Amino acid sequence: MNNPFKLLGISDDVVNAVKDLGFESPTPIQEQAIPVLLEGNNDFVGLAQTGTGKTAAFGLPLIELIDFKINKPQALILCPTRELCLQITSDIKNYSKNTPGANVVAVYGGANIMQQLREIRNGVQIVVATPGRMLDIIGRKAIDFSSVKYVVLDEADEMLNMGFQEDINDILSTTPDDKKTWLFSATMPPEVRRIAKNYMDNPTELTMGTKNAGNVNIEHEYYLVRARDKYAALKRIVDFNPEIFAVVFCKTKLDTQDVAEHLIKDGYNADALHGDLSQQQRDKVMQRFRDRNMQLLIATDVAARGIDVNNVTHVINYSLPDEIESYTHRSGRTGRAGKTGISICIINTKEVGKIRQIERIIGKQFTKAELPTGFDVCEKQLFSLIHKVQNVEVNESQIEQYIPRIMDEFAELSKEDIIKRFASLEFNRFLEYYKNAPDLNAAAGDDRGERGVRGERTERGSRGSDGYTRLFINLGSVDDFTRGDLLSFVCNNGKISGKSIGKIDLKGVYSFFEVENDTVDSLFTNFKEVQFNNRGVRIEKSGDAPVSSERGGERRSSGGGGGYGGGRREGGGGERKSYGGGNRREGGNAGGGFRDFSGRSRDDKAGSTGGKREGSGERRRRS
Ligand code: AMP
Repeated sequence: MNNPFKLLGISDDVVNAVKDLGFESPTPIQEQAIPVLLEGNNDFVGLAQTGTGKTAAFGLPLIELIDFKINKPQALILCPTRELCLQITSDIKNYSKNTPGANVVAVYGGANIMQQLREIRNGVQIVVATPGRMLDIIGRKAIDFSSVKYVVLDEADEMLNMGFQEDINDILSTTPDDKKTWLFSATMPPEVRRIAKNYMDNPTELTMGTKNAGNVNIEHEYYLVRARDKYAALKRIVDFNPEIFAVVFCKTKLDTQDVAEHLIKDGYNADALHGDLSQQQRDKVMQRFRDRNMQLLIATDVAARGIDVNNVTHVINYSLPDEIESYTHRSGRTGRAGKTGISICIINTKEVGKIRQIERIIGKQFTKAELPTGFDVCEKQLFSLIHKVQNVEVNESQIEQYIPRIMDEFAELSKEDIIKRFASLEFNRFLEYYKNAPDLNAAAGDDRGERGVRGERTERGSRGSDGYTRLFINLGSVDDFTRGDLLSFVCNNGKISGKSIGKIDLKGVYSFFEVENDTVDSLFTNFKEVQFNNRGVRIEKSGDAPVSSERGGERRSSGGGGGYGGGRREGGGGERKSYGGGNRREGGNAGGGFRDFSGRSRDDKAGSTGGKREGSGERRRRS
């Protein structure tokens, strides 16, 4: 009876409408903003992230304040993008579905203007518009804003970023002086502050969370990789998160298209969203993403603005935005409506400074994450498969007829054998792809970064960089070593300073590292008796034979270390070759993505377990 929206002053018709949408109680911004806005006599500034429920925070009071008996525009909502415009329009239509006489129109570019003009002529009270098209319609003298009482500037910072300042000025000049202006913005740069000052009279200000802060439900992580390993790193992150449903941000349209094309070629269920696509194409892509027929949406900042898709698990910054402020908007695509989300940046060593700047703006710290090893990915995928088996819905009536024959086929096999074989069906393919997967983590910090650069040269051959000798050690990530651990281990036991160590190349059962030439002898002497977990630690010069990336290294390891993957020693490091180094993948699946692992070609996937990573030609609904 005492519905919390009703307690805030919302009428029954609207309360019932939001109940139908599943809104049981107001979000914090709604709780605070609705009573203030319902008074209807003040300007307002709301600092709120996208995903906090701000559309209802201003939408519900607007519906209460407008006189729907009068068929004239009384509220104008300006927002930066067509997507957001459509979203707001649809939300407000939903909120007002029980309100007699309520008419809302969406005015945006890239769509038939005649239809929009017709709707306006038929009479509307709430106009939701992007600035460009709105000005066009004003220019045609096709709308009368003399009755406008409320103007909402939604995502004001984005509108300014997109250069709409002049347009906004022109539009607002056609509205009455005594209207009230409500401004919402995720961030509060000086330009937005200026708008607030110029257009508003002593506005009530509400801040949800800290100013410019990101959503509290979002965790922020960064992965440090060499620039050329970026694409491989992206794939590895995706592979390590079998249930990922993500927006991947690139800086340019070209990058967006390029990354999407490579992912599709590699068998991932991905597509691009950018400004070079026609509106129809963009709508199609968005619809597929909304319906979860696609797992990875690769987008530019502009195209992704206003995307309101719930349950996005990750935002991946394939490249950092030029405007640091844009990071808040990007990350706001996840962690919506009370859900949690992870925002990931894939960066090179030169970009760590930018991460620190972002930290200052969002008031939250990033976690430096390590890219999982090939082994980790295999394990994760294997158990994801096992869990799918546990949870799969069995169609008893359909499968029943085959059971006797299946039992017959398996008659000779024990339960354990069947399980092993069944799991291997997928697992072998994972191992095949990741058998030589390189460590993609780059060294942290500027000095470590330089080591990385030096190391890049040496990866193509086994000689150390100038003044350095490249050494083999029979310890690696399977011993739970990170690069930092290995650095301390070598320094402590070899009694040398960290400064004497060059590039560290952490592998699975072994690693390589460089040391200054004049410390090599003492290092060997000091390492004579060193043990790790009751195992002798072996250090050797890595020899002069060219080490072709992972391949030579793997062979090298055959004598020592043991641990995982005894049979993983043929073939090249497909992952590295696949993209970043300028070498596009040449045809086929060699070294390529996930499709290989799934054990499914594009043609034989239908009916198999996941429904993820379908190629571009065959996209199925998940689950
Ligand atoms: P917004 O910030 O307006 O884009 O809203 C983000 C998401 O939260 C949308 O999917 C809304 O439908 C949803 N939402 C808004 N208010 C509520 C509420 N009170 N309860 C549950 N979900 C809400």
